[in-house]
Formats: sequence, C-alpha cells, structure tokens
Amino acid sequence: MANSKYEYVRNFEQPDPLLPNTWLVVRIDGRGFHKLSAKYGFEKPNDRRAIDLMNAAAASVMKDLPDIVIAYGVSDEYSFVFHKSCTLFERRESKLVTTVVSTFTSYYVHLWSSYFTNVPLSAPMPSFDGRAVMYPTDHNLRDYLSWRQVDCHINNLYNTTFWALILLGGMGATEAEKELMGTYSSDKNEILFSRFKINYNNEPEIYKKGSVVIRDYELVEPKKSTAAVDSPGMAEQESSDAERGISAQLSKTQQEKERKRREKARITVQHIDIIKDEFWQRRPWLLSNKPGKIPKEI
Ligand code: ATP
Ligand code: ATP
Ligand code: MG
Ligand code: MG
Repeated sequence: MANSKYEYVRNFEQPDPLLPNTWLVVRIDGRGFHKLSAKYGFEKPNDRRAIDLMNAAAASVMKDLPDIVIAYGVSDEYSFVFHKSCTLFERRESKLVTTVVSTFTSYYVHLWSSYFTNVPLSAPMPSFDGRAVMYPTDHNLRDYLSWRQVDCHINNLYNTTFWALILLGGMGATEAEKELMGTYSSDKNEILFSRFKINYNNEPEIYKKGSVVIRDYELVEPKKSTAAVDSPGMAEQESSDAERGISAQLSKTQQEKERKRREKARITVQHIDIIKDEFWQRRPWLLSNKPGKIPKEI
C-alpha cells in the first residue's frame, strides 16, 4: 500500500489477539428472535423449520472454516469451537467473531427460503451478535458445552410444559407462568403426563438435546479401564494437547495436510449427549485435533 501522510491513523487500531493455547468459543445469538419468531409464525415451543435452518447455516460455517472443531446449537444460538492450536487470523478476536457472525448470517438469509417456503423475509432482516470466550483446559471446554446442553434441556422442559398448558390446557400465558412458578423438573414431567398424556422422554431428541455439528470420522472403541472411571482418555488427551501447544507447533506443510483432510470430511448434525465421557472418548479427534479416519462409503 502506498505511504501517505494519513497512514499513521492505522496506529489507532487496537491489537486484539486471544491467548495462545486456549480453546476459543465463538457464540452467536439471534437478535430479537422472540419478536422474529412471532413475525414469521414459528410453531411453539419448537419450530422444526427454524431449527433445521440454524443447523444448515452452522454446517455451512463449519465447511467454510475448517478450523472449527465442533459446534453446538439450541434455539437462536450457536457455539463454534476453535481448537487450542488454531492460528486462524493470528487468533485476532474481532476477525474471528465477525467472520463467524457474518458467515452464519449470510447462510441463514441465503437458506431461509429452503426452509420457510412461501414466507418471504422482510426488513428488519435476521441478525446475530457474537462474542469470543477463551477456555484454558479441555475440562473447561467440556463444562462450557455441558452448560449449554443442560440449558437446552431445562429450557425445553419448561417451554414444552408452558406451551402444553396454553395450547392443550387453554390457559393464558400469565396463568401458565404462575402455574410453573417454583416447580421442579419432576413436577413438570408430572404435569405433562397426568394432564396431557405427554411422556417427556418420548419428545424428539432434537428438542431435548439440541444440535451437535461435527466432522464425521470413524468412531473409536473406548479403551476399557479396570480402575476408577476417571476417564483415562482425557488424561492422555491433555498431554497430547500440551505437546501441540506453543512449544511444539505443527509444521506449515503438516498443518496444510490436516486442513485438507478436515475439508474432505463429511459434516454431520446429531442430537446426542455431549456431557458424558463416552462422546469424547469415541471421537478423539475433537480434543486432539488430529483428523480421524474417513468412513468408507457404503
Ligand atoms: P436477544 O436479542 O437479547 O437475544 P431474543 O428475543 O433473541 O433477544 P433469546 O433469549 O435469544 O431472546 O431467545 C430466543 C427466542 O427465540 C426464544 O425465546 C424463542 O421464543 C425464539 N425461538 C428461537 N428458535 C425458535 C424455534 N426453533 N422455535 C420457536 N421459537 C424459537
Ligand atoms: P482480509 O480478509 O484480511 O480483510 P482482504 O483481501 O479482504 O483481506 P483488505 O485489506 O480488506 O484485504 O482489502 C480489500 C481489497 O479488496 C482491496 O485491496 C481491493 O483489491 C479489493 N476491493 C475492494 N473493493 C473493491 C472494488 N469495489 N473493486 C475492486 N477491488 C476491490
Ligand atoms: Mg436471541
Ligand atoms: Mg438466545
């Protein structure tokens, strides 16, 4: 770029690198989706079209950004996880956050008509905010994702009961809210079953568990351990992570090779438990970031 007397203004830009060797989570959330869901007549409590659209946009983001290891979504939010060793955009916070937010938003708007046929979008257009959070250990990252999945369960049980009281029980919103005030999970299960013959356990997994987007590699048989169930897989993972820290970065060619393998993998959306050890033990590529084996086409 040519030098000019104006060039100095660049010095006003603030550097914003995120810490090295930490998990990066970019969480996006729809702006004013309570209102937006009313405007486009989302079915309550769960509009399947809206969830499928969120998932399709998230899968496209993962395809465009091979550095994303896993994404988890519920309602109008999605969390995108970048590996500790990720060096995309030199880990600059605003580059990472704004790229995820705008890529997601573009796909959301682009794919809208495939999921909401004959429901044209009109201003104000859907938009999303975003933030980045750093998590220093694998344990912290797993707790973060567990927090989101537990939140999904709690909210879904509440919303399912709340809307059953309204749609099937004929209550008003205020009355239903009052009815649920101070109730525990067991009370809500009981209300659903005794009044509406709904067994919450039989509700679709997509609503109860949220959506997990990952690259599809062959599952690994978890190692059998005879000792305490202190997940030996995790301990191994921690040490291999340390090896891949700042002191032992992969060579550029190795990085490129792995990126290509990641790009080749199919992206899947699943509605499964990500809290238990089993999910992580069977998918060691998530914590290690070493791409797994591509399953053979059947
Ligand atoms: P903010 O801008 O602060 O995020 P918001 O209105 O988006 O405000 P959230 O707390 O993010 O509020 O909640 C999202 C809302 O979007 C939910 O309350 C719910 O009403 C609606 N919503 C999102 N996804 C769906 C869906 N698949 N089906 C039905 N409603 C949905
Ligand atoms: P980064 O992803 O780091 O932002 P970049 O390739 O987008 O990389 P910028 O520094 O943002 O780089 O520069 C934008 C570049 O886009 C310009 O150098 C110019 O070549 C090109 N460009 C932008 N607008 C136009 C336009 N209207 N016509 C032709 N070229 C354009
Ligand atoms: Mg929102
Ligand atoms: Mg939200």
